[in-house]
Amino acid sequence: MTGNIHSIETMGLVDGPGIRTVVFLKGCPLKCAYCHNPDTQNCGGGKSYTVSELVNFIKRYKRYYDVSGGGVTFSGGEPLLQSAFLIEAIKALKAEGIHVALDTSGYGDESYYKALLPLVDLVLLDIKHYDDLAHKKLVGKSMNGLLKFLSYLEEHKVKLWLRHVMVPGLTDSKESMDQLFHHIEKYAKLVEKIEILPYHKLGVEKYTQLGMVDPMADIPEMDTEAAKFYESYIRGLLEDSKSQDRKTISRRSAV
Ligand code: SF4
Repeated sequence: MTGNIHSIETMGLVDGPGIRTVVFLKGCPLKCAYCHNPDTQNCGGGKSYTVSELVNFIKRYKRYYDVSGGGVTFSGGEPLLQSAFLIEAIKALKAEGIHVALDTSGYGDESYYKALLPLVDLVLLDIKHYDDLAHKKLVGKSMNGLLKFLSYLEEHKVKLWLRHVMVPGLTDSKESMDQLFHHIEKYAKLVEKIEILPYHKLGVEKYTQLGMVDPMADIPEMDTEAAKFYESYIRGLLEDSKSQDRKTISRRSAV
């Protein structure tokens, strides 16, 4: 079995805990207006790896994972599009004692989730928008796939880091954070971390190189400090919700 891989980054520090090898898989069912990796969207191209070729490559950096609490992160594109390959690769990595994270938007083939999710140590889930119509407009699909995926994460009690790209004029307000929180509160127990990522223009030249139109050409970058402010606001909401939950549980056990 082979996987179609766009690129591999070693010594990654942002896509999960510790030092990580990040494997970017080819293909994505979404078309996010702010995509900074449009070159990964197409299923074609890329380099073919067998499971053992990939695992042998990843294993070379194991001492870095071990000293830093790191591991490997599968990203994309949308890694769930290659779930059959992922399942085999993750089984082999777990047999080597390597921590595995999945960086996803939650749009894959549901029939693989049962076999895949119990193997994964952490999911980094990108929530694009909290309103179904706006979600469709922004990424080309309704929120149904994401909500379904969240219900599977809940069922399998998978640890979760949530991520949300904040776009100026679209989602940069407390009201937006309140609405986003409203959608995720139900899963608060699973959520270890929430990150608000400011929209940036770093991938813009890729659109020109690929002969694609950048749908966000007129939108400015998100102010980093403002994004930090909203991040601490929504983290506060999350912490309040968790501590409320803890109080309810201890009240129940005291009765
Ligand atoms: S899910 Fe990721 S790779 Fe796919 S279009 Fe959106 S930003 Fe790009």
